[in-house]
Amino acid sequence: MMITVEIVDKWMELFYLKVSEQKAYLSELDTPIGDGDHGNNMMRGMQGVKDSLDKLTKPDLKTTFKTIAMALISKVGGAAGPLYGTAFLEMAKKCDETQAPVELFSYALEGIKKRGGATVGDKTMIDVWAPVVDILEKSSLSVEQIREAANGTKDLVAKKGRASYLGERSVGHLDPGAVSSQYLFESFIEAGGI
Ligand code: ADP
Ligand code: MG
Ligand code: MG
Repeated sequence: MMITVEIVDKWMELFYLKVSEQKAYLSELDTPIGDGDHGNNMMRGMQGVKDSLDKLTKPDLKTTFKTIAMALISKVGGAAGPLYGTAFLEMAKKCDETQAPVELFSYALEGIKKRGGATVGDKTMIDVWAPVVDILEKSSLSVEQIREAANGTKDLVAKKGRASYLGERSVGHLDPGAVSSQYLFESFIEAGGI
């Protein structure tokens, strides 16, 4: 399946709904190991995405990705905003060359790593993005595999972001950005992207 504007529109609509439903939970996850704002940040960002996509008339894929990126960068705030924004900006840059999810997500992941300086195992959103790319390189992707990746952050010691201030005490808590990334990829599957 190749990514189209129709799929991205549906994807963002479903992600918006998921963030709306889970806003309080995402902020709750960010409370013991962060500053308790991740759900509010993502909700503000996705409201911005919705508003700016609504204003476009017949956009192409590049414009759609770029619009999402700009809304996330300007509205989410916090660490997650520029990182999610970078992911969509990278997809905007590369979507003329390829519309394959695995390739676009792989470019997005590289952008997130470069921007935030984190890698696999640092207890961040990368611990969902990286396994998603790995799985898609070999086969299809299931909701169970995405959840497993997000749940895996519970056992990790945070090495980047606010949670890293806690060191070993971050163990036993899910990473909020990994869980919002879980919702992002679940929404992608539900939108028919895979
Ligand atoms: P803030 O920590 O500034 O309040 P958020 O709460 O919105 O921002 O987002 C926190 C999430 O951002 C973390 O759970 C983690 O997944 C992600 N994150 C933080 N720093 C990095 C980083 N350097 N690289 C990748 N992801 C990161
Ligand atoms: Mg926070
Ligand atoms: Mg914050």
